[in-house]
Amino acid sequence: MTFPRLAWRAALSTAVLAVFVPLAYVGERRWDEAVQLKLLLGLACLAVCVALPLVVRGGTRSSTSRWVLAASVFSVGTIVAGAYPALLIGPFPAPHLLHAVSLLGMLSLTVQQLRVARVVRDDESLLVEALLFGAITASVSWDVFARCGYRGDGWWNTSAALVIAVGAFVAAATAVLAVEHPRLRLAHLGIAIGAAGTVLTAVTSTRDPAAGNIGAVMGVVAAAMLVAFQPRGGMVRHGGTAATQAVRRMRLASLPVVALLVADTVAFAVSPRADGVQFVFIAVVIVVAAVRQAASARAIDRTHARLSFQALHDSLTGLGNRAALAEALTAPDSAQSLVILELGGLDDVTDVLGVAVGEEVLRAAGANLREHVTAHGGTTFRVRHDEFAVLLPGRPEEVVTHLPAALAAISAAPLQVTGAGRFPVEAVAGVACVEAGLRGQEAGAMVPLVHADLALRAARATGGPGWSVYSGEVASAHARRLLLRERLALAVAEGGVDVHYQPIVNFTTGRVEKFEALARWDDVQLGRISPVEFIAVAEESNLVVALGEHVLRRAVASAHAAGVFASGARLAVNVSVVQLQSPGFADVVREILGHYRIPPHLLTLELTESVFLDSDSPAERVVTELAALGCQIAIDDFGTGYSAFGYLDRLPVHVLKVDRSLTQSMTGAGNGLSVVTAVVDLANRLGLTVVVEGVETDEEAAICRQISAGLGQGWLYSAAVTADRISAELGREYPVSAEPVR
Ligand code: C2E
Ligand code: CA
Ligand code: CA
Repeated sequence: MTFPRLAWRAALSTAVLAVFVPLAYVGERRWDEAVQLKLLLGLACLAVCVALPLVVRGGTRSSTSRWVLAASVFSVGTIVAGAYPALLIGPFPAPHLLHAVSLLGMLSLTVQQLRVARVVRDDESLLVEALLFGAITASVSWDVFARCGYRGDGWWNTSAALVIAVGAFVAAATAVLAVEHPRLRLAHLGIAIGAAGTVLTAVTSTRDPAAGNIGAVMGVVAAAMLVAFQPRGGMVRHGGTAATQAVRRMRLASLPVVALLVADTVAFAVSPRADGVQFVFIAVVIVVAAVRQAASARAIDRTHARLSFQALHDSLTGLGNRAALAEALTAPDSAQSLVILELGGLDDVTDVLGVAVGEEVLRAAGANLREHVTAHGGTTFRVRHDEFAVLLPGRPEEVVTHLPAALAAISAAPLQVTGAGRFPVEAVAGVACVEAGLRGQEAGAMVPLVHADLALRAARATGGPGWSVYSGEVASAHARRLLLRERLALAVAEGGVDVHYQPIVNFTTGRVEKFEALARWDDVQLGRISPVEFIAVAEESNLVVALGEHVLRRAVASAHAAGVFASGARLAVNVSVVQLQSPGFADVVREILGHYRIPPHLLTLELTESVFLDSDSPAERVVTELAALGCQIAIDDFGTGYSAFGYLDRLPVHVLKVDRSLTQSMTGAGNGLSVVTAVVDLANRLGLTVVVEGVETDEEAAICRQISAGLGQGWLYSAAVTADRISAELGREYPVSAEPVR
């Protein structure tokens, strides 16, 4: 709560007081100097409270000390306003002190109630609270005035009250010390003192012992219950079970407040010296407190409902979240299937069109999917950033018949949002069986999730949209990945990963100008493993950082030893995004170059396009750093991603490597040739070197030469060779292909 708001609340309360008090006097037909003085003081207090927010706005003190300041100003003003006229008339000073204490307690009690209410409510209740605040204060002020001013209670009554007050205070203080939270401690203190004050009011305001006892007993019970049941700080805010407890405690705590007021009313009602004005005040307080309490309880209920909804729902799509899925998985009555669907390409949409469009696509995909799934009696959840989960009745064999439609429903989302099919968002799915009878077994409930995830991974590995069902095959693929990871870690640690070198040839001269270093791994148990497979495993486990550094060191050392750099030829090394994101990569490159005194421009680092799509990624900064070192940056596999081009002008790129799939398409029936020609043309205009990958035939090489592609690599020339054959390749001149006949 900001200070101005607190001060405004105090100001409003004072205003209510200023209205109540004269009304009371008018009701009693007493209008003398004391009343005028009191009015003046009340107004002065009001003025201070109104001025405070203007003066202290933007101050640096903590909100607590501001709160204390506002509350003290208000209390001091009100106490003076209440006590001063009474002092002028009444003979005993002791009752005024007691009632001043009572007043403080009441204030504190009310403020505490407001604080609890504030956590779960907005400020529209300000008026109701101010009314309550003012009415309570007016009631106590009036009591002070009436009793001391014209009722004139005897000294023995006052002394008895004093003894009770001190006893209540000591008891309350002892209880208060047991509470840990400092602010709550203060609040409890206030509540206890307030209750003691009420007891005193009940005892001293009537000569009827029966009525006095009712008030006293109820007051003590109220104090005890308040101390026991006040909500603890921070509970409601944090939600969950703690919130439920806080609501219960809040309800219980409100009971004694009502009991306290009812006790007062009963005491006054049955007293032969019943005070009409006080009675009205208390009636007002009861009504306002009841209204406020009811509003609080409703608001807490709403907050609670919202918190429990949030705990089980995804805020973006409104679908159930992972926790809701876990709950659903613990209670299947009959066999069901769990489908996990992943949106491929969502990150590209977000990178290029922005987060808002990405979220819009997710929302649309979720809505489409839900519509489809609900029609088949299933439930939809969103379980991860770009993953939905679906629970459908039936075994996987039956459920997969719905999948093409479900996948199509998701793929339609970007079209709905962007109005164009430029960003294909294609979903892949993994399906697993959820066996019936898992009820209550939380650990077992996670099994289908793990299986569906593995199936999803298998589906993803096939490349395109589609799905796979968890099976023995999926399980063994997973087992193989785990085994590979273990063996590869060993091989990397022992230097068992070798490097081969594929010559890169100038199309026009036939000379070898460059070598690409390619990792090779022969495991004693598993045999030769393709880099496509082991690099993927290494990237998943971060192992690629150590592996990449090993390849880089070995490749530079071998190329250096074979005289590659001395002859002015270059070396290209593949670098994974994961390496770029690991700290210190640029330092490693700098250190290796320095160690062999290699001109940095002779080292090319091959990266894939994904590095460049997010302009804020740390990887991009590392690329800039590497280029500043003098290394050449190549875009590998160009033509397989989105080929967004935008980054070409933003970033230091020197080489474009045309992907093998594009190379093959040149000699096919489609527009492959036009695409490659356009890409080579663009690269040449931008001053980039073009390397065409996967050149396998003379025809391909001839076309490349004709469309002015600079360099080529492929089996037409040579596959990757071992380190001892680098120097032989270095001196070699491959025959230049003749112009194609077309
Ligand atoms: P890449 O960077 O695109 O490497 C070119 C791949 O094409 C190599 O496969 C190479 O042997 C193969 N290739 C070369 N000429 C031809 C051809 O005429 N026809 C066909 N069909 N293929 C040809 P390889 O060695 O299996 O490597 C596969 C991928 O593994 C590489 O693709 C690269 O992405 C990755 N890789 C290899 N070594 C490393 C490494 O040290 N670090 C990282 N991060 N990735 C590596
Ligand atoms: Ca490469
Ligand atoms: Ca490539």
